[in-house]
Amino acid sequence: MKLERLLQSQGFGSRRECRARVLAGRVTLDGEPADDPDVECDERSCRFSVDGEDWRYRERVYVALNKPAGYECSHRPQFHPSVFSLLPTALLLRGVQAVGRLDEDTTGLLLLSDDGQFIHAYSSGKRQVPKVYEVTAKHAVSDEQIAALLAGVVLRDEAISVAATACERLDERRLRLTVTEGKYHLVKRMVAASGNRVEALHRVAVGGFVLPEALASGQWVWVDATTCAPEL
Ligand code: URA
Repeated sequence: MKLERLLQSQGFGSRRECRARVLAGRVTLDGEPADDPDVECDERSCRFSVDGEDWRYRERVYVALNKPAGYECSHRPQFHPSVFSLLPTALLLRGVQAVGRLDEDTTGLLLLSDDGQFIHAYSSGKRQVPKVYEVTAKHAVSDEQIAALLAGVVLRDEAISVAATACERLDERRLRLTVTEGKYHLVKRMVAASGNRVEALHRVAVGGFVLPEALASGQWVWVDATTCAPEL
């Protein structure tokens, strides 16, 4: 594949823009400055950099973001900046979407990808993908509240009962709660239905993907969709 096509396929703009980047000396190929947009490269094995950032060819992209509070999971946010503003333009130009949504004030693991099947598999309620949250409640959590969350609570504005698949106390006001559904404000509504209130919500896992401990708030990493592990 020609270098300009490789860059284009990876989200670096139109063919013309990619050509211009190479001609302007902003690209390296396998560690060497690249000045020929038409040079042939093996997309599967070559490494390249654009404006000093290292990249490699990816057919599809999968990333894990440690979402900070104060960001909306929307391309058209209403009141706060978008989580997409935390990603490089090359990812946005590839059409990356969030896998499900977190509330503006929820922090933690948000997966993003340009793979429609992956997004569907991990966000469809039918697949029952476990999502693990650390909940900080307003009041001390009672044994009765934990029992109710595990047995199923009736949500106030929907006459259905939803149960956590796991719920353990971390300390007096903190829980680790696992749910498999993906309803709007689900954890907040479940905790409210149990007689308490969520003060802070942090997602630590989705299916086999676990938020890397070293990943600072607002940072993202490539993840491997097969092993669910961060890429080395
Ligand atoms: N449940 C909620 O209430 N909010 C989230 O952001 C995610 C799950």
